[in-house]
Amino acid sequence: MSSRECQNCHRLVHHIAPYPSNSRNHHVLVECEHCKELVFCYTMGNRIEGVKAMRRFKHQATLRSNRSQNDWRVELSDIGEEACTSNYLDSYRAAAICLRIALENIVNIHLLQTSKDKPEDFGSLEKKLKKAEELPGSRLGTSAKECADYIRRLGNGAAHPGAPDSVLPIESNVVKGIKKLEDLIELVNVR
Ligand SMILES: [Zn+2]
Repeated sequence: MSSRECQNCHRLVHHIAPYPSNSRNHHVLVECEHCKELVFCYTMGNRIEGVKAMRRFKHQATLRSNRSQNDWRVELSDIGEEACTSNYLDSYRAAAICLRIALENIVNIHLLQTSKDKPEDFGSLEKKLKKAEELPGSRLGTSAKECADYIRRLGNGAAHPGAPDSVLPIESNVVKGIKKLEDLIELVNVR
């Protein structure tokens, strides 16, 4: 792979030095002239030395296949992808909130069969997780519960800093959270 390859369309991003004066920490966001996506580039002096690898949401294709935009699983795919994009662009807190919303949807719509059009019935996530866990034949086993719990704590870290047992919304924790969401989707059999 070229060190200047756009992570979206795989064509080369151009050197645009001098960089904008607000460029900091030896990186700059460059709009790819081919696909118009933002590419996170590492710079050294007036050169682009490399690009940050972009992580795509694993279940995007499966969740979207043959479904209308209105299907909650398509929305789940969008939210997962938004978490990946936000994290790529250094918006870790936004990414953590996306993960939390994805979790709320899985718990309420998939596990508890609440209508997606009635988000006012979702209520407290902690209580709903407990309810989903206690359902006869619950799909929220130990591993799934552990994934859900990590995402919940990460969401708390983003929305309620200082909340007990919250996880800091920093890049590495969000990457871990994205993986936990992908695992959770498999463990509770969203498809
Ligand atoms: Zn591109």
